[in-house]
Amino acid sequence: MKTFCGRANPTTGAMEWIEEDENYDYHQEIARSRYADMLHDKDRNTKYYQGIRAAVSRVKERGEKAIVLDIGTGTGLLSMMAAAAGADFCYAVEVFKPMANAAVKIVEKNGFQDKIKVINKHSTEVTVGPDGDMQCRANILVTELFDTELIGEGALPTYEHAHKYLVQEGCEAVPHRATVYAQLVESKRMWSWNKLFPVHVEAEDGEKMIVSPSEVEKCPGVPSVCDIQLNQMPSSDITVLSDVVTMFSVDFSKPVKSASTHYRVQLEPIKSGKAQIVLSWWDIDMDPSGTINCTMAPYWVKSTSAFQWRDHWMQCVYFLPNEEPVLQGELVCLTACRDEYSLWYKLQKAREEENKIDACVESPVCRCQAHLLWNRPRFGELNDQNRTHQYVRALAEVLKTDSVCLCISDGSLLPVLAHYLGAKQVLYFLSLSSLWFSLIFSFFKANHLEDKIKIIEARPELLTASHLEDEKISVLVGEPFFTTSLLPWHNLYFWYARTAVTSHLTSSVTVLPQSASLHMMVVEFQDLWRIRSPCGTCEGFDVRTMDDMIKNSLNFRESKEAEPHPLWEYPCKSLSDPQEVLTFDFRKTVPQHCLSTEGSISLLRKGTSHGAVLWMEYHLAADISVSTGLMQISNEKGNCEWNPHCKQAVYFFSSVIESQSLSDLPSAIIYAINFDPKTGEIAMDFKL
Ligand code: SAH
Repeated sequence: MKTFCGRANPTTGAMEWIEEDENYDYHQEIARSRYADMLHDKDRNTKYYQGIRAAVSRVKERGEKAIVLDIGTGTGLLSMMAAAAGADFCYAVEVFKPMANAAVKIVEKNGFQDKIKVINKHSTEVTVGPDGDMQCRANILVTELFDTELIGEGALPTYEHAHKYLVQEGCEAVPHRATVYAQLVESKRMWSWNKLFPVHVEAEDGEKMIVSPSEVEKCPGVPSVCDIQLNQMPSSDITVLSDVVTMFSVDFSKPVKSASTHYRVQLEPIKSGKAQIVLSWWDIDMDPSGTINCTMAPYWVKSTSAFQWRDHWMQCVYFLPNEEPVLQGELVCLTACRDEYSLWYKLQKAREEENKIDACVESPVCRCQAHLLWNRPRFGELNDQNRTHQYVRALAEVLKTDSVCLCISDGSLLPVLAHYLGAKQVLYFLSLSSLWFSLIFSFFKANHLEDKIKIIEARPELLTASHLEDEKISVLVGEPFFTTSLLPWHNLYFWYARTAVTSHLTSSVTVLPQSASLHMMVVEFQDLWRIRSPCGTCEGFDVRTMDDMIKNSLNFRESKEAEPHPLWEYPCKSLSDPQEVLTFDFRKTVPQHCLSTEGSISLLRKGTSHGAVLWMEYHLAADISVSTGLMQISNEKGNCEWNPHCKQAVYFFSSVIESQSLSDLPSAIIYAINFDPKTGEIAMDFKL
């Protein structure tokens, strides 16, 4: 069955009706899911297996039958481990239908169909009794329901229910226990993802500053978890203010309570500084004694030999509602509050805390709009003084005292820069959403510019001469940045908007950026390749059915598409030089015809070609460019440094070239890239 879904095209801005196959969401879920990554997580898998074997033996030693309940069985992996370890019977519960179907096939293929019953239900719907899904309650509870925040996927209510209705009292649980750790740090880099710092502008008539409205400054931000590959954050970006502390543990073998609560710990700062961030991660003990431990601790906490790359479990960054100065040796009190699904932190002076018993604050709520409209990387980008400096230089080059300047970009501070740099009149488009109005207006007001910069609430194609007070635009600017952009080229919406306002531009209009170029490079990923790589067998179990399923879902739509990844979190090395493949001239309107290119890209280093990375560079003025991708190749090994605020496009090759010596390599990879102005899409094809 097909259904029609309406959506705005991120590049062209046009409203489109797209025919979606009813299975589209399923395929998206599987293609983008982390099942492959979990199956590649050797550390996790071996420890689960050890923990399951130990639990089965403990039950057997007591002379009982081992009846396993595996909630969220996915591929059936943990149930197969239990069956192989000698469990008498396993109930494998999986709510997601395509996965439950896959589990049935995988269980059969591995010959466990007599020992494992797959139940396609949410665990809270499972019934127990002679006619029920389960004949009797289980005495071993196995699950892997954890996300980076531990509880974000609903582990607590699932456990609470399972203990009440599905397992025996005194059951064994694998994992047996989870523990959440926290560490207080100061980090300007991470703090810049949640607060807007004053922007300094060198203008001809002295230094100017853009400040935030007080409601933005005071706002605690949004409650959504910030999960990152913390191991990619250099230690120079983090000042550790406390030792690692244990915030709380959950014993999964006992009844679990999911109701909101809080946990409080006293800390003695090991350094004076500004407490801004709580870094947090967890570990799980697979057995009661804690000898089988799987930890997400970052590099400065654990030895490198224990290191396992994984993307399904990372580390969490929690922003304190406001930065608090702390003094070395002067006790502070850190509170972790949680509801059923999420966590947040607050910090108090130890003395303050004595007076206040009821210390649990509500989950942070953004009331200033900024945290709802700008995501965390966008905050980081707006706070990037180097980047601002490039725009200031470029604006200073193109603006004249009689310039009439129009800005097209979401939630941009460029109009303020243009005003400070002397434009006669500055207008600002709010083309995509009226939600921006109150936020942008509050910024202008905080800087006493509400009468100086005119906000136009209209789509570009609806711009009229009266909006412009009958003036023509002599300088059109954009970062460009639009919140609807997922892939780098979606920001070409700027070009479409520029085309739509053409009749309002002077004949000698300056467009900033004057052009954009699409760049490409072939890379070898250190780890990211795992999310696309078939697994074959996992701990001795044949999981090829899962590999085929992922492949099928990728082919469903994704195979000829690139996907966005923030590559600062995913190290790679360049195997080719970066190459400019297409240019988009914003001084002209969007052409009617396709822009295509074909060529070859030479491989200069040995390694495995996993895919191509693509990004945009914006040419603000003749000699000033900003890159949303590669910043530099930092050494002769080819290690890359990426723009930390942007996602780059990754096109995974369907087969990889692997070679140890250059002579074995095909010297080049052939590519064909096509930009279709009607759809705004970029299609690409590679031949290895
Ligand atoms: N156990 C597998 C897969 C873990 S992923 C492994 O370790 O490799 C977690 C799976 O649990 C997902 O497939 C999700 O759909 C499922 N799930 C989460 N909560 C569930 C619940 N309460 N009942 C049934 N399935 C659940």
